[in-house]
Amino acid sequence: MLSTLRLGAATALSSPGILGMAGMAASRLLTTLTASKLVLDRHGHPAEVLSLKTEQLSDQQLGDQEMIIKMLAAPINPSDINTIEGVYPLKPALPGIPGHEGVGVVTTVGSKVTRMRVGDRVVPIEHSQGTWRTAGVFHQKHWYKVPKDLPVASVAAMVINPPTALRLLEEFEELKAGDTVVQTGATSAVGKYVIQLAHHRGVHTINIVRDRATRPEVEADLKDLGATVVCTAEELPAALEASGLDRPKLALDCVCGPASTAMARSLATGGTLVVYGAMSKEPLIVPPGLLIFKDIRVRGFWLTGGFAKMSGGSGLVAKEQLADRVCALFRQGILRPVPVESVPIERWQEALAKVASPKRDKKILLTFDEDVC
Ligand code: NDP
Repeated sequence: MLSTLRLGAATALSSPGILGMAGMAASRLLTTLTASKLVLDRHGHPAEVLSLKTEQLSDQQLGDQEMIIKMLAAPINPSDINTIEGVYPLKPALPGIPGHEGVGVVTTVGSKVTRMRVGDRVVPIEHSQGTWRTAGVFHQKHWYKVPKDLPVASVAAMVINPPTALRLLEEFEELKAGDTVVQTGATSAVGKYVIQLAHHRGVHTINIVRDRATRPEVEADLKDLGATVVCTAEELPAALEASGLDRPKLALDCVCGPASTAMARSLATGGTLVVYGAMSKEPLIVPPGLLIFKDIRVRGFWLTGGFAKMSGGSGLVAKEQLADRVCALFRQGILRPVPVESVPIERWQEALAKVASPKRDKKILLTFDEDVC
């Protein structure tokens, strides 16, 4: 009996039903399907260089190691915007499909696919998979199977931000309970994961936010996650003194500009400032006296670049170990997922406008099916 699998509003399929038909030969499962994808023709402002297109997918084009994945949701991260603009070190071939992260369901597998089965829920473990599409053909080695009991909204954005927060807290300073970490961008997804992970270890956090009309609500939200202090960059010296906390050993910076300078000044002697983003697009200014007389260290961090430097298959192993840890942290409730707002891919321009609006309080997720989040 022929049936149709709904793959998002713009997707049609002429084939036997495929979900839940694990073990059947790929060639029997479907003939063709039409997938929608956001295509990047040239680098530039996202609203100007992206367009929604369709493509035909067929099991005939599946290699032995490949799978067709029906995407459920994919976040719009700052690195996606930077990639589209052409200012990120990862530069996909053009025309290309943006989207480093997301979650999908395996609907068809090639004959030598062993890592996944039809019906598995998967996330990309390799960057630049092009997740902003309703469905696509992907190599099995670039994906990681996630437990189905974790909410789509949690796993859709689990391979970049939570691992970044874990590594920022573990790789630069040996932190013990009672120590202090200060960070900019505390309202970001990374910032919120840093707060929760630090709180779980008994480490205090001083969280720098931009002032806004909703500051009391933002402050309450961050404190609910475990933040010790919430302040603006200008308020930092007084807030640190009033808190009675030790000077921070570690400063985590995704903003740069005057906020970084304020954080660097607040560090304990020998402390480390780690720069992992530059949302303000301003330079990093660290007064030389801090390096000379207080032995402050300034380091950079790039999750993707770090994995790429690992030899042999160790990058993949490291990514999978981190992904395992993140799943466990979500399941144990140690990490609460950041709030998301879902926008269907057909309304991609609206999604991008929401991402560009300052002081938004939710991660924007493109969705490819109704009611997934
Ligand atoms: P989100 O989209 O969740 O949050 C964006 C954050 O940036 C918010 O805190 C926002 O603050 C802040 N922000 C935006 N514009 C400005 C500005 N002009 N000045 C000051 N703050 C600003 O981000 P993510 O959690 O996904 O990412 C956060 C940062 O971490 C990004 O810079 C990203 O590139 C970086 N990152 C780096 C990684 C690495 O490996 N190096 C890995 C993962 C993320 P507000 O609430 O005030 O708008």
